[in-house]
Amino acid sequence: LNHDILDTKEHVEDEENQLRPQSFDEYIGQTDLKKNLKVFVGAAKLRNETLDHVLLYGPPGLGKTTMSMIIANEMGTHLKATTGPSIEKTGDLVAILTSLEPGDVLFIDEIHRLNKVVEEILYPAMEDFYVDVVIGKEASTRSIRIDLPPFTLVGATTRAGDLSAPLRDRFGIVSKLEYYNETELTAIIDRTSQVYRIDMDDEAKVELARRSRGTPRIANRLFRRVRDFAQYNGDDIITKSRTIEALQSLKVDELGLDDVDHKYLLGIIQRFRGGPVGLEAIAASIGEEPLTLEDVYEPYLLQTGLIKRTPRGRVVTELAYQHFHISKES
Ligand code: ADP
Repeated sequence: LNHDILDTKEHVEDEENQLRPQSFDEYIGQTDLKKNLKVFVGAAKLRNETLDHVLLYGPPGLGKTTMSMIIANEMGTHLKATTGPSIEKTGDLVAILTSLEPGDVLFIDEIHRLNKVVEEILYPAMEDFYVDVVIGKEASTRSIRIDLPPFTLVGATTRAGDLSAPLRDRFGIVSKLEYYNETELTAIIDRTSQVYRIDMDDEAKVELARRSRGTPRIANRLFRRVRDFAQYNGDDIITKSRTIEALQSLKVDELGLDDVDHKYLLGIIQRFRGGPVGLEAIAASIGEEPLTLEDVYEPYLLQTGLIKRTPRGRVVTELAYQHFHISKES
């Protein structure tokens, strides 16, 4: 039985919200980002001003949405959340902007997917807190200016490079979220076990941390599945051996690599003699979307040194051959 199929989207969102830290102090890791934001938030509050616009970028599941909520909490304001692709018309964005209260935080996830026309409405909104709206029909159209309350835009994206320069330049604070190390992930898993009120052995926490691809969302998702295995078997504490058993059933290996990673790496090794090979060719050969591979899978494989990007395409490294116990033929 695949539990991931049974998790409806709302169910997953509820579970994520239940686990979200509420303050800078509860938010584990991302030390530099947190240290800087604390200063910027503190200084803005001292001056009684809104915080400058913030752009957060990095792979999915590293805590961008969570951080935007914390910024609103720490500023003592409300958060309105939306996503780039869900804002189709300029009117949609104008409606959101005019509904903001002074000082509110507007969170736009996947901000690189805003369409151009909508994006241009944001420029004056971010810079001078107004929008120009065109009203009327045909010959009698005119543009009226609507003033907005001062607000903070927090944009999140997996690909900062896809943002247009004019949009990127309007963010005063631009920060990259990094993968979490084992110690930080262990602390996150420890917190998750407290929220769910189920004990886990320390060595089980470390094992799970090691296999979570440096990503809190994955750590929490795997935690829920491991918990299923433990509770189903009547364990009152989650042990390391149960954790390993559960992760093996889920096809998550010692490095946290899953089926798609395996297909990707073995695909390059077996069909392209280890590379170099272009992203499109790998994607086609294993039946995955190039964008998904690039945004979700490759960043971690690069980070762990299993692949390298070269001008002629992707190559797998010696480490990948070792991981699969395959010897490299020359
Ligand atoms: P993103 O917006 O980058 O995709 P989210 O903010 O939605 O990621 O985080 C995914 C999950 O991971 C959330 O449920 C959150 O509780 C958890 N999480 C993320 N960052 C942290 C952190 N620094 N400390 C504890 N939990 C975290």
